[in-house]
Formats: sequence, structure tokens, C-alpha cells
Amino acid sequence: MLPPLLEIDVDLPQPATMQEEQAAADAGNTGSSPRSMRSETCLLRGPIIVGAGPSGLAVAATLSLHAVPFTVLERSDDVADLWTNRTYDRLRLHLPKAFCELPHVGFPGDFPTYPTKHDFLRYLKSYADRFAVSPLFGRTVTRARFDAAAALWRVTAVASSPAAANGGEEEGAEVATEYASPWLVVASGENAEVVVPKVKGKERFAGETLHSSAYRSGERFKGMRVLVVGCGNSGMEMCLDLCEHGAMPFMSVRSGVHVLPREMFGASTFGVAMKLLKWLPIKLVDRFLLLVAKMVLGDTEKHGLRRPKLGPLEIKKVTGKSPVLDVGAWSLIKSGNIKIVPEVESFTGGSGVRFVDGNEMAFDAVIFATGYRSNVPSWLKEGDLFTEDGKPKAAQEPTSWRGPNGLYCVGFSGRGLLGAGADALRAAADIAGRWQQAAGAETTASV
Ligand SMILES: Cc1cc2nc3c(=O)[nH]c(=O)nc-3n(C[C@H](O)[C@H](O)[C@H](O)COP(=O)(O)OP(=O)(O)OC[C@H]3O[C@@H](n4cnc5c(N)ncnc54)[C@H](O)[C@@H]3O)c2cc1C
Repeated sequence: MLPPLLEIDVDLPQPATMQEEQAAADAGNTGSSPRSMRSETCLLRGPIIVGAGPSGLAVAATLSLHAVPFTVLERSDDVADLWTNRTYDRLRLHLPKAFCELPHVGFPGDFPTYPTKHDFLRYLKSYADRFAVSPLFGRTVTRARFDAAAALWRVTAVASSPAAANGGEEEGAEVATEYASPWLVVASGENAEVVVPKVKGKERFAGETLHSSAYRSGERFKGMRVLVVGCGNSGMEMCLDLCEHGAMPFMSVRSGVHVLPREMFGASTFGVAMKLLKWLPIKLVDRFLLLVAKMVLGDTEKHGLRRPKLGPLEIKKVTGKSPVLDVGAWSLIKSGNIKIVPEVESFTGGSGVRFVDGNEMAFDAVIFATGYRSNVPSWLKEGDLFTEDGKPKAAQEPTSWRGPNGLYCVGFSGRGLLGAGADALRAAADIAGRWQQAAGAETTASV
């Protein structure tokens, strides 16, 4: 097997104006004024992959099976930053393991149906080892643009940890490296940055505010009144966790939400839905799911959880919003241990929070379970795959994984790990075809 990184230390010609423009952009993008900034260029023979999450690993593994070298740039210091550093302790995969495996390697037989995040991380690390994927850690990609004259993607990564800024740099120095390659794979994830809504008066709140990515366990909230803003899978599960740790959770709900039992008729709801979709139109499957949900859970609207007009699968398809698969929070909502409150209007000073219905309540802490977004528009300056808010342009379906000029996008189909695996297989096969063509042309030229 070829080594994962084929790096040729060749300085690409670069006009002075572009270097200046790039240094300025880098300083701006990192939001800091580095005490010193060294800059160098590496021309790579294989593709550049941005991100060492499940998507980046899956595409790297598949490229290695095609004997195509690659370079993975990852901003954190380990694989799967989201799962390692930004998730709560009790998290398990929301979907059964059969729908979450990456290409080529199944989960070990002793994994439970819903693997814990620790199981999943163990799997991802051994996956990376198995395919000799060694990302360059501590490299934050701040800019990528296509150089049409050279037919190369020029990708700037800033070394974000002192350990990566080796070579005798002063402590804290930043090194901006430009990597150049004919192929760029965007695998930085749909969840790269946290989303926290602007709420009037938030700075005046006397208690703690945090995003769900910083929540680990309800232990330190024991005895506290905690407002959880958002009612997706994370919001619901954190309320459950808070309850189990002796806190008093309130869940602020702005719009409608579909809560479904995680299992129906002894099988996973997701699996049942996937099977039915092979035979029935989406609207009919939605009606079936809602009927069973009503039988199992009762009327969620009675307890403050209004159902959206579109069904659970249709709304996912149209807006990307996933239904909540209940893991126990629902019965605590019914028993009143988790209280549903309306959308937050403002923070009123001290520990007060006012809701849109005019009521006011006091809380010790507020957790924003308000989701994530992609960061692609902040660094990808070319190509036509993404909207301004970092979502792939739906109009390009079903080929949203491939853009112009050797640009690929893995893990943005809104279909979780299953979609990421499918994208990775297609992108890697396409790159391998072009790689072999290029290698053939080189051989012919040298003969
Ligand atoms: C709480 C939670 C539970 C979930 N459960 C499931 C589930 O059960 N099943 C499922 O299918 N999906 C689940 N998901 C969705 C999940 O995010 C994805 O399935 C999976 O993590 C996507 O992998 P990814 O590699 O595309 O993105 P990520 O896991 O986000 O990985 C992207 C990587 O890119 C790096 N990166 C980002 N920007 C840059 C940059 N500029 N430069 C360099 N590196 C960068 C990040 O540090 C990260 O390591 C869950 C998500 C959350 C938040």
C-alpha cells in the first residue's frame, strides 16, 4: 500500500500580490494577529481532504484501497473532533449500528445495537489505523481557491497548535502552509460551528450559559433550575440527563417537532421507515409512522409538543430537520418532570428569562441546544456546491458530491453517516479514475 502522504517539497510560483492578499486573509480568518507567520508551499500528488471526521476517514480509506495517496488536514489534535470533544457523556448513536458503519469495515459483533460514543470512537480510531490514515493535525484550513492557470486547488492551512509549529519557531508562532493539488475533498462536516441565537439581554444573565457542545453531564447541575433551549435529539436527551441527575429541566420549544418512538414492533423506527420507503410514497410512510407514534406515545400536542404540518420524513427531506427518536425524555415530559415552556423572548437581568407569551421565570443556567452549521463558506472561495450558509445546493442533487474542477464534497447530504459513506465511495472512485488517467498519461509521456 502506498503511504498516505506523498508530499513533494516544491515551491509553486506565486505572485507577490497573491501572497500578500493571502497572508492578510489568513490573519483575518484566524481572528488573531500572530506574533510571527512563516509561509511555505507543498505540491501534493494526491487529493487534499479537509476534515478527519467519519467522512474524511471514509474517503481516505477508500482512496487507500484504490492506491491513491492523499493528505488529510484536520484542525483538532485527533480524529472525529465532534465525537471526541463536543458531545455529552451518555450519547449513543441515534440510529442502529447497521446504518452507521463506514465503508469496508463493519462494527465489531459485540457492539450493542446503539453503540455508545466511546464504542464509536474506538471503531473510528481502529478504522484510521487499519487504512494507515495519518491526518496532519492542528491544521485549520482558512482558505481554498482554484488556480485555473495551474489547474490546482491552493489550500491554506494554519498550524493551530504550538506542537505543530515545529522547526524552531518561537512559542505561539503560526505557520501558514499552502497545499496544492488537482483535487479537493470537503469533509469538514455539517456541524463544524456551533449556532447560538442572539437573545436580547443575554449578557445580563447572572447564571451560566453554554452551548450543548460544552455539556458533558447533568451532575454539576444537581438541584438547579436549568432552561434547555431547543427540542431536537440533543435538547431532549440533555433534559433526560438533567432529570436523572436531580436537576429541574425546562425545555423551550419554538416551533413544532416530531417525536417518534425509537423502536416500533420490536424493530428500529428508522429501519422500518427505510423498508417501507422502498414500496410506498413518503407521505404514506409518514402517515403510518404518525399513527404508530400516537398509539405508542399518545398525543404529544397535549403536552406542548406541536407536530409540524409536514410529516417526519418529508420535513427531514425538505428542511433537513430530523425527528426526535425518543430515548426516555417523553415519559418525563408526560409526568411533568421536564416542563415545556415557549420560545425565549429576552433575558431580563439577574436570573430572569421572559418568554414570548409574556411569562417570566428564574433559572440558574441556560443551555442552548440550538445546533450547528457548516463553516465551508468561510474558507472555500470557489466552486458552486454550497449556499452562503454552508449547505449544499439542493438543485445539484443527485450529484451534490461532485463540483467543478476536481472539487468533491463528502458528508453534506443530510443523511448522516450512511450518506457520508455513500458520498465517500463515489468521490474516491471518481478521483481514482482521474488519478489513473493522469498516471497513464505520465507513463506515456516518459516513454
Ligand atoms: C450529538 C450528535 C449525534 C449524532 N448522532 C448521529 C447518529 O447516530 N447517526 C448518524 O448517522 N449521524 C449522527 N450525527 C450526525 C453526525 O454529525 C455525522 O453523522 C458525522 O459526525 C458526520 O461526520 P463528518 O465527518 O461529515 O463531520 P464531523 O464529524 O463534524 O467531522 C468534520 C471534521 O472536520 C474538521 N474541520 C472542520 N472545519 C475544518 C477546517 N476549516 N480545517 C480543518 N478541519 C476542519 C472538524 O474538526 C472535524 O473533525 C450526530 C450528530 C450530533 C451532533
